[in-house]
Amino acid sequence: MLIRGETVAEGGLVRNRNSTTDENASRPPNPIDQRKSPKLENAVTIAVSPELFHMEEEQQIYENQGMENYFRFHRERMTEHWSPGPAFSFVKAMEAVNVRLRELYPDSEELFDVVLMTSNHHQLPTDTKLYLSADETKVREVLENGIAAATMFAPERMTEVSETELRVAFDGDAVLFSDESERFFKANGLDMFEEREQGLANLPMDTGPLTGFLEALVKLQKKFYAKDQRMDCPIRTYLVTARSGGAGTRALNTLRGWGLDTDGAHFLAGAKKGPFLELIQPHIFFDDQKRHVDSALELGLVACHVPIA
Ligand SMILES: [Mg+2]
Repeated sequence: MLIRGETVAEGGLVRNRNSTTDENASRPPNPIDQRKSPKLENAVTIAVSPELFHMEEEQQIYENQGMENYFRFHRERMTEHWSPGPAFSFVKAMEAVNVRLRELYPDSEELFDVVLMTSNHHQLPTDTKLYLSADETKVREVLENGIAAATMFAPERMTEVSETELRVAFDGDAVLFSDESERFFKANGLDMFEEREQGLANLPMDTGPLTGFLEALVKLQKKFYAKDQRMDCPIRTYLVTARSGGAGTRALNTLRGWGLDTDGAHFLAGAKKGPFLELIQPHIFFDDQKRHVDSALELGLVACHVPIA
């Protein structure tokens, strides 16, 4: 069960970062001020906006009635459980991974550390690997400061996903990779894109906005592999790209060059991604194209838009 509170007791996953003060509220919007986390120095920090847990009531109180009322409300409701929002199953799966990591490495702080950002996204903890919000403006500001970020959307009715294994699916171009090839595709069409990408198969692409998050996942996966638990690793990653197999070689070569193989790599040649993602059942899926995000949402999957265009 997730724990709610200003500071979570040792062993808990979610920390509520109530660092917003009057002084902070008047800070200029940029640059993003990454403060050092008080705990878990080597953690994979995921900063999540509270509305993704369906905490709109708290948010409204903070914005309309001020900080004192917000904290009073918060104290009074400390013991109540949350009703799940779109980030809930993702966080729950990270918690399951943490349980396994603690069993294998009791003294290690290399764990997922989920920090609730109560409205102020300008103070992300140091080394935030991913920021999630429902507010695209905030997401864009965070992305512009070189931090992985995405706008999370909730499907009308969420499909069930694993509670013991974390599954993360990524688009390739403009998500794991730079948007260079995507821009060429938009300017020149599919045929020229395919021809170009096959010609450049051995030339690695540049990193994209979410490369660092995949890197963090792979690092945690390797901790399981080191304990001979490759087959039983509770983290699974997937590349789900609209590229065809021919153009996909460059994507695979790029990932391998970085030492970041995914557990699955799927080349859909422009087909709708939703039906394929339904087979994977990811807790979270990232794409820079809204039509692919919508396609996943239609099938009850939580999907995130990476607004880099
Ligand atoms: Mg893309």
